[in-house]
Amino acid sequence: MNNEKKRHDHHDEDARHLFELLHNNSDWVWEVDAQGRYTWSSDVVTELLGVPPEEVIGKTPFDFMPPGEAERVACAFGAIVTEKRAFSGLVNRNQRADGSIVVLETSGIPLFDEHGELRGYRGIDRNISNLGERVLQLETIYETTPVALCMIDREGRLVMFNKAMAKLLGDNAPLETERRFQQLIPDYWPFFLTDFALAESNEELPSRELGWRDRCYDIQSVPVRDAMDGVIGLSVTWVDITERRQAEHKLASANKVLQQYAQHDHLTGLFNRRYMDERLLNEIARALQDDFPLSVCLADIDYFKHYNDTQGHQAGDDCLRLVARTLTSARLRSSDNVSRYGGEEFLIILPGANLAQAMNVAEGVRNDISALKRPHSASPTGFLTISIGVATLQHGQLRFEEKPLHMIASGLIHRADTALYAAKKQGRNQVVSARDGHASTESTP
Ligand code: GH3
Ligand code: MG
Ligand code: MG
Repeated sequence: MNNEKKRHDHHDEDARHLFELLHNNSDWVWEVDAQGRYTWSSDVVTELLGVPPEEVIGKTPFDFMPPGEAERVACAFGAIVTEKRAFSGLVNRNQRADGSIVVLETSGIPLFDEHGELRGYRGIDRNISNLGERVLQLETIYETTPVALCMIDREGRLVMFNKAMAKLLGDNAPLETERRFQQLIPDYWPFFLTDFALAESNEELPSRELGWRDRCYDIQSVPVRDAMDGVIGLSVTWVDITERRQAEHKLASANKVLQQYAQHDHLTGLFNRRYMDERLLNEIARALQDDFPLSVCLADIDYFKHYNDTQGHQAGDDCLRLVARTLTSARLRSSDNVSRYGGEEFLIILPGANLAQAMNVAEGVRNDISALKRPHSASPTGFLTISIGVATLQHGQLRFEEKPLHMIASGLIHRADTALYAAKKQGRNQVVSARDGHASTESTP
């Protein structure tokens, strides 16, 4: 084989290769003359526009566009041709023979003749219909999501914002994007400056809770970076959490009411036993730790069953309320320490009181009740009276004992109850201490 033949074969192979490249490609390659008429077209056009290359020759790109689009693109292309420059990424919509729309992205370079005159353009068209559709979908989602979204550039310009964001801004919604965020919501600009600074140093951006026009928003910025990883803006999400906050507020007050119910006796308004048992544990712990005495008084209305039987249940309830009011009177340092411990039984905790002091308080309380002179026909005294059992935790007494608190508490209550039982047994309307089991004062019939 001589060299001439070899070169020839090689040439043939290159040409075949080029032909394949041109015609079996996703990009459509073309050439137009100075008037924009196609002078050459690769086969791909059949796929893109639905017409064979020979039908394209002599036509212009605008012949394949819907009227409005042709005008728009002609305008953009006119400027390019005037400057005789290369262009890329010119997006245009075309209508195929069957009426369907195909979105193309066109790029081209100018061609010149030997005198330097513009002879036409050579370029490629790429089908971006799918991409366009995708962008359109994403734009729709961005636009219509109920969450307010915006993008702020470094100068504070609102580069982009959706419907919900416009609604959020209200009258402040910018008509032109030149409006700066600093002017729209001046108070918030410093937060975004902080976000920019954090994004610069690759730190995580915090979410913030901020109020704007009676609404409460959870605001989160995400940095938007360019190809060089520079921060060019912030994409900001504004979630309206007003309802959530209101619900939380309602829940908190509902919980407060519930707690009030859970801790109190409905009839008298005093603390209930559940609360008082817990309270007693805390008070005992405090007394042991700080080394002071603690006393409890267990008071019980005398002959109350008879009272109900003779006066009626309603009167009995009134009576319980009256006793509750009397017990919480000024005699006690804190009304917090009185509770309705059972049906007609009341527990008083006296932190810091030794036995003598507790007996004194109990005697005062007993006297207060009898001084009411509330008629009680079934009682030997003729009036409503109470009996009280007193028990004391002396200071120093339990410091070195390793007894669980609840056992100390139940022991204390048990001693008070035993003393109360003794008071009843000894004739009622009296105070008895757990230590001696004797009445401190004789009943005063
Ligand atoms: P004692 O002097 O020994 O304490 O005799 P008592 O009748 O007071 O004691 P008893 O335990 O036999 O009766 C207590 C009564 O208290 C029985 C019940 O009808 C009444 N009682 C308990 N809770 C309530 C209440 O909420 N309202 C009314 N009206 N009565 C109540
Ligand atoms: Mg009773
Ligand atoms: Mg009782």
